[in-house]
Amino acid sequence: MEENKQGLARPVLMLVLDGIRPSVLQDAIGGGEAPALEALAGRGEAVWDAVSVFPSITPAATAAIVTGEAPGRSGIVGHAWYDRGEGEVIVYGATTETVISTGPLKVFHNNVWRMNRDHLRAATLFERLHEFGVEGACVNFPIRRGPYEHPVRLKIVKSVAGYGEYLGEVVSGPKEYYLGDIFYTRDTGLQGYRGLGGLRRSVGINDEYAAAVGARLVRERAAPFTLVYFYQGDSIAHHYGLEAQRRYVGKLDEYVAEILRAGGGLERVLEEYAVVVLSDHGHTPLMPQRRRHVRLAKILGERAAVGARAGFGPGVDLVAVPNGRSALLYFREGVEREVVEDLVARRGIDLAAWREGEWCTVRRLGREISFRPGTGPADGFGCRWELRGDPGTLDMEVDGDELRYGEYPDALGRLRGALESPRCGDVILSATPGYTFGEVSGKFHEASDHGSLHASDSNVFVLACGLPAPRRITDVAPMLLEHFERSRVEPGVL
Ligand SMILES: [Zn+2]
Repeated sequence: MEENKQGLARPVLMLVLDGIRPSVLQDAIGGGEAPALEALAGRGEAVWDAVSVFPSITPAATAAIVTGEAPGRSGIVGHAWYDRGEGEVIVYGATTETVISTGPLKVFHNNVWRMNRDHLRAATLFERLHEFGVEGACVNFPIRRGPYEHPVRLKIVKSVAGYGEYLGEVVSGPKEYYLGDIFYTRDTGLQGYRGLGGLRRSVGINDEYAAAVGARLVRERAAPFTLVYFYQGDSIAHHYGLEAQRRYVGKLDEYVAEILRAGGGLERVLEEYAVVVLSDHGHTPLMPQRRRHVRLAKILGERAAVGARAGFGPGVDLVAVPNGRSALLYFREGVEREVVEDLVARRGIDLAAWREGEWCTVRRLGREISFRPGTGPADGFGCRWELRGDPGTLDMEVDGDELRYGEYPDALGRLRGALESPRCGDVILSATPGYTFGEVSGKFHEASDHGSLHASDSNVFVLACGLPAPRRITDVAPMLLEHFERSRVEPGVL
């Protein structure tokens, strides 16, 4: 464990840069466009092929970062999923179209209230560290459940809360919680109509605001664990592609520099804090033609319901929920998986995966493999797998006691991490690079997307100073818990 001068665990500053592809950050650093991030990479450990979860989608990945659990166990499996109990598709929202087709109020309610309160099944770092006497501060990060209540501050939200079934007057979070104009533990003067972010300020939920509040928290040394989230690099890639994302990395670098400056400069911050900067998933450029959109509604035909209002009505055998470059398929009880077995032959569908008892099976390019944890070759993450079938299905090589992943990093662990829960569906599809299943609205991102099992959108970068760099996003929370363990022995020391 890294300690400060008093022998206590150092405070941790964690910055999550949504959707920044590792190669994009490397190019920006190579071009001299990201000096602050370059300095952090140089001072600590930089990992360029760390691995996201599957589906590699923001809600699932951010939940994995702060709980240490894959989607099957965190309960947060994507932008949208089918809730069998409620008989409806739950949408957290990815694009404006999705929000409108589902109803803005409902999506907002799902995103801000239900995701953390009702659907998240695993404890967050904010909850677990609090038990050690270590308090957290969170800016804009979507998964923030914690031991403290925070009242809604935005008048328009307040006026809706308390009427009907939607919204609420409070949410739970860490000791300090900031989400644009909606929640702020202390009045920073950075929110409101005259706040940061210009015309497209999205009720104050923007990266400029995140940087300014993050800077203030670090200047004040406000919390032992500070988590600041920047999401705009992801939406820029979706709409304008990776070249635009690279230009935006320059902006993100200025935000990182602003926070470091507020803390007294790089040297001082690294003396006092352990710093971790990472992305939650990568990005895969889409093909320019229209056919980049794999339209499940068309492929599956009338037997399937697809979309934000899908459900098991008369004649419907399956509900399909697209999640960018992955898709979750739910079958009516008694309907066999065979109804979708020919899907992997379709253009744009790379692989299909499902579970039978303890075994998970993947079909790709006419090949098949089944696997389960057991005695067998060990992968690079120390997991042993019992295999049946062709390892080439997932571009893996088995060499004696060793299993090496190729184009699908941590493929077995990640597939199992999704298939473990029925919430992820009976069959999960992953798209071929260049293709996307789009959103529940029926629309799709134009330039770039993510969600698949493929390295292209699954690899993330991690820069870690004062802490060992995790190789998987699910390793972040266990590593931070270990880092702060000492505080449990000496409560109240931070
Ligand atoms: Zn995205």
